[in-house]
Amino acid sequence: MGSFLPDSSAYELLTIIGRGLEDLMTVNLARYRPTGEHVAIRRIDLESCTNEMVNYLQAELHVSKLFHHSSILPYRSIFIAQNELWVISPFMAYGSARDLISSHFTDGMNELAIAYILLGMLKALDYIHHMGYVHRSVKASHVLISVDGQVCMSGLRSIISLIRHGQRARVVHDFPQYSIKVLPWLSPEVLQQMLLEKLNGTVPCLLDTTTIPPEELTMKPSRSGADSGICEGPSTGGAHHSNGEPSSSGSHPYSRTFSPHFHAFVELCLQRDPEKRPSASALIGHSFFKQIKRRPSEALPDLFRPVTPITGFVSTQPQDAASGLASLESGLSHMDVDDWDF
Ligand code: ATP
Repeated sequence: MGSFLPDSSAYELLTIIGRGLEDLMTVNLARYRPTGEHVAIRRIDLESCTNEMVNYLQAELHVSKLFHHSSILPYRSIFIAQNELWVISPFMAYGSARDLISSHFTDGMNELAIAYILLGMLKALDYIHHMGYVHRSVKASHVLISVDGQVCMSGLRSIISLIRHGQRARVVHDFPQYSIKVLPWLSPEVLQQMLLEKLNGTVPCLLDTTTIPPEELTMKPSRSGADSGICEGPSTGGAHHSNGEPSSSGSHPYSRTFSPHFHAFVELCLQRDPEKRPSASALIGHSFFKQIKRRPSEALPDLFRPVTPITGFVSTQPQDAASGLASLESGLSHMDVDDWDF
């Protein structure tokens, strides 16, 4: 997929598939009229943004132009349409890992699916670190999965360069903007759990038969939500699947056994002392990933079953791919965002 036209009339907006940036951003599924393919459009109302926010967004777009990696979500076109910033990217038909966890795999995913997703994320992080940046917003909603099982990292807004005065800094203490705002709104117990428990060295672990006492596993589960099986997370409705299998009504969702390699991997990543935490490139070589035998495109759609990607939208107009390609050739957009004028 190359660059797309920087013109809002080239896109037919379909349904809303996400929100972000403190609700200033709407993510739309859309059809790109010249070729008929589906894209995601992040639309941000610039009039509601402060100047500081706009600078922040510009920095993100600048960084996106530098990055070219198969595990990082590419931006295909960036332009302004009626006071809105439009960022066009490929549509990732499985949505985000957060979408998958909250709507289908509420008790956690299959270990092999997790391995594929984590390997994709580590490859993205390794690349970002080699480029001299730190992502600072690695979370399930920034892990996007395409119809053919390609895992991509998004969320470049919080990224920061490690290069200071020509030198690569070893640490960054700067807190990402527009995430600090949520802190005063959190309840004391949530803040305590987030900050104090972390500082005190309490680390989460994988929930399975090796970490939950047998007597608890025979009890009726008191909660059913777990963010990918690590610690606790919000529970939402929908079908419950654990380890890729529907959990039968009687059995505890954590009556599963993750491999010793997976437990060791999680333990390594969650060490309190940052010096002891391995780098992304070291983690890519961890024995946890030896279970990966096939390409993500061959394995992930099987592992996600019965979840199916969003496909098969009926378009209202017939598509003319040939004429679409011709118009693309004449009007390829360039991500020229350096000379905005507000
Ligand atoms: P936050 O403010 O929480 O950091 P954000 O502003 O970074 O969020 P995104 O995470 O980029 O917003 O997008 C919000 C959601 O929209 C994603 O979690 C995902 O569900 C959906 N989404 C975004 N981009 C795509 C895409 N290319 N394909 C499919 N879904 C997408």
